[in-house]
Amino acid sequence: MSQLSHEDWIGKASAIRFRDKAFIDGKAVPARSGRTFASINPATGATLAEVASCGEEDIDLAVAAARRSFEAGVWSRTSPAHRKEVLLRLAQLLRENLQELALLESLDMGKLVKDAASIDVPGSAAIFQWYAEAIDKVYDEVAPTGQGDLALVRREPLGVVGAVVPWNFPLDMATWKCAPALAAGNSVVLKPAEQSPFSALRLAELAMEAGLPAGVLNVVPGLGETAGQALGRHMDVDCLAFTGSTAVGKMFLQYSGQSNMKQVWLETGGKSPNLVFADCGNLDAAADMAAFGIFFNQGQVCSANSRLLVERSVKDALVEKLAERAAASQPGDPLDPASRMGAMVDARHAATVMRFIDGGRKSARLVTGGDRVAVDGRGSFVQPTIFDDVAPDDPLARDEIFGPVLSVIAFDSEDEALRIANDSIYGLAASLWTDSLSRAHRVAERLRVGTVSVNTVDALSPMTPFGGVKQSGFGRDLSLHALDKYTALKTTWIKY
Ligand code: NAP
Ligand code: MG
Repeated sequence: MSQLSHEDWIGKASAIRFRDKAFIDGKAVPARSGRTFASINPATGATLAEVASCGEEDIDLAVAAARRSFEAGVWSRTSPAHRKEVLLRLAQLLRENLQELALLESLDMGKLVKDAASIDVPGSAAIFQWYAEAIDKVYDEVAPTGQGDLALVRREPLGVVGAVVPWNFPLDMATWKCAPALAAGNSVVLKPAEQSPFSALRLAELAMEAGLPAGVLNVVPGLGETAGQALGRHMDVDCLAFTGSTAVGKMFLQYSGQSNMKQVWLETGGKSPNLVFADCGNLDAAADMAAFGIFFNQGQVCSANSRLLVERSVKDALVEKLAERAAASQPGDPLDPASRMGAMVDARHAATVMRFIDGGRKSARLVTGGDRVAVDGRGSFVQPTIFDDVAPDDPLARDEIFGPVLSVIAFDSEDEALRIANDSIYGLAASLWTDSLSRAHRVAERLRVGTVSVNTVDALSPMTPFGGVKQSGFGRDLSLHALDKYTALKTTWIKY
């Protein structure tokens, strides 16, 4: 991990180069229309670059390049061992360019550069490595037909995969889609969020450097309503993998139904509960992780532990510990390794979060935080904020705020805790804290979510599937299960 000082990072930031063109068929190209959009550093308000704003004709070019490369077989028909070599080289290149990539993330969307350098970029490299190492170890099937017949069941790549991703972990979200899709032999058209195009554009360059043929990974920066929609409605895209809000996820289902019935896989919003029972043996650890679970990345995490459900007898003690931790985690310059929290992704999102906080001041008890602040006189920052005595039907407890805002709700029994936890349109993740093995299993079984973390929060690894139920989406990122999204089963039946 890098040990750079604040001054080192500032120096590197002043020398960084932003890729501001689309990346189509192996080349950096402007949008056909000549349109651009401004990419802004939310920590300073400064415009970093004017980036190509892709429209329908650019998406057509990118999809055509992806289709050509897929049909030519330059990647799709290479051996899994070859794909492994290339993707391992890409993982290595991500590590060699770690500081640059971490800076691009931080400048683009306001996260702490030290987190990007120790979590986001190494995480992306680890995932490319994981799928690279896995892909030549996945066997196909022979059906138990008996003699005289041989039925092969093989996985085939789908063709052109469209990926539309959000801004909260720009490189990681791109990687979660691209690594398994590419490992399986598909060609990809990736649309990063308009707030965070730079790391995806750099990723495409590094992939070529690693040996990925032109046209296999294309990146089309642009606006959701134009570039995203064009990809969602494209007649020659076989599969659309989306991470983002529930509202936009629903649009992709419609785009598919109104176009070519492409497969759509959705990873959407969450309002994840964190249940702390009185038999939790380590309340300090629970407080540390509850704070991490909501304040990390300024709360802009789909699986953020935004609802803290606490058994009444330990609630005041836990809230006091949490308030101390929140007070010690005030926002600072994202480039300063001493900072504990960075900027919100943009001024508009900061205002949205503040509307929730202002509503909460009337409906619940503000424990700490609650203000929008400036760092060095500028930028979009929000304090780590805790509300206690939140009613389970309050917007604070129901809506995905996607900011550093924790809602505390007391409960008196396990049944009540489960009822409140499951009373949500979302079902992405949950955490629970207890020293009782039986309770851990009992509660984990009854939580309607994709991932339950016991005595920790947000457990995550390339080895385990990630995704939700209900309106948190369907399909799974990560693990071998993600390959199901990017492959079709082909049966070949031979009579002999
Ligand atoms: P978002 O507004 O839904 O945007 C996600 C992506 O969709 C962006 O690339 C966006 O482009 C594009 N988009 C927006 N409107 C579109 C439209 N009408 N048609 C086609 N594409 C469109 O979400 P966000 O604000 O970037 O990210 C926050 C959300 O992501 C939260 O709800 C969070 O829970 C969710 N998230 C989920 C996971 C998960 O794994 N479940 C992980 C991370 C985040 P623009 O940038 O141009 O708007
Ligand atoms: Mg930006």
